[in-house]
Amino acid sequence: MPPHNAAPDPEAVGLCFTCRWKRALTSRRGSTFFRCARAETDPRFVRYPPLPVRSCSGYEEAMLYVVLNHYTQPLAAVDAVRAKHLEYLERYAREGVFYAWARRDPPIGGVIVALVPDRATLEAILAQDPYIRAGVARAELVEFHAANVRGALRT
Ligand code: SF4
Repeated sequence: MPPHNAAPDPEAVGLCFTCRWKRALTSRRGSTFFRCARAETDPRFVRYPPLPVRSCSGYEEAMLYVVLNHYTQPLAAVDAVRAKHLEYLERYAREGVFYAWARRDPPIGGVIVALVPDRATLEAILAQDPYIRAGVARAELVEFHAANVRGALRT
């Protein structure tokens, strides 16, 4: 699949954007590449299918999560790494992992909506969060089924 700069349009990627077999990689130059992990074991699929994919027998919907971040340090300590945290969120939005996020009100933490193949993948991604790495927040994961999702989350 060709690279996408900035935020890829889910319509331009098609089914792959919300498929649990999608793997995304963002280069240092900010280009995002999407590949099909099914192609590694099944010759019916190609590693980089032409986009957008509108029909695919291998499509399986990824899992949805709400991530509740709980700040564990004073807000000043959280804000000291907030810029890096926001960069991290934007990077994974480009890869079709994070769909929405916000600081909670009152500011006791944050909320992130994520779409991933499984819990282990999300945990690995969250371990890279500058908030977690700096020890200023902990993450609580809430998994739910995507039956009633609308809009950009459902291509
Ligand atoms: S299985 Fe199909 S929809 Fe899923 S990532 Fe591969 S090509 Fe895309």
